[in-house]
Amino acid sequence: MTEGLLGRLGGRGHSSAKKFAVASSEEEWRRKLTPAQYRVLREHGTERAGSSPLDKEYGDGVYRCAGCGQPVFASSTKFNSGTGWPSFWAPVDQAVETQTDRSLFMTRTEVHCSRCGGHLGHVFDDGPQPTGLRYCMNGAALDFHRGEKPPEASDGDPPPTN
Ligand SMILES: [Zn+2]
Repeated sequence: MTEGLLGRLGGRGHSSAKKFAVASSEEEWRRKLTPAQYRVLREHGTERAGSSPLDKEYGDGVYRCAGCGQPVFASSTKFNSGTGWPSFWAPVDQAVETQTDRSLFMTRTEVHCSRCGGHLGHVFDDGPQPTGLRYCMNGAALDFHRGEKPPEASDGDPPPTN
């Protein structure tokens, strides 16, 4: 952990106190990501509907966060929402977090990667069963790894205790 480094670099005003396991400076993100990835992940941009080839991808595999590589969605939860954005009814356990987004005169629920904080998309409650949720994702924020197996589901695991 190099927590002190951020402060020494004159820590830019973080919108929240939240610390993510993977943290890079804006310059590092710019170097690491393509402009399209940067706009979505770091600037909360939304790609044009239908612009991502992942919208039409239905092969078996795992969708990883394009920012840090954490598996965030499995192909088994992907469905065709007809919106032009890759859509899923559930994320990989613990892989995403949400917060209220009041931009564009709407109240929506923003979804970001739990590891790097990268913006992935939004979640709506008009999805299919079994969750009734629709995770509307930007393909630019995801890397598809064909044939990869998602991390073990939590069925066997005991619930975390404090
Ligand atoms: Zn990430």
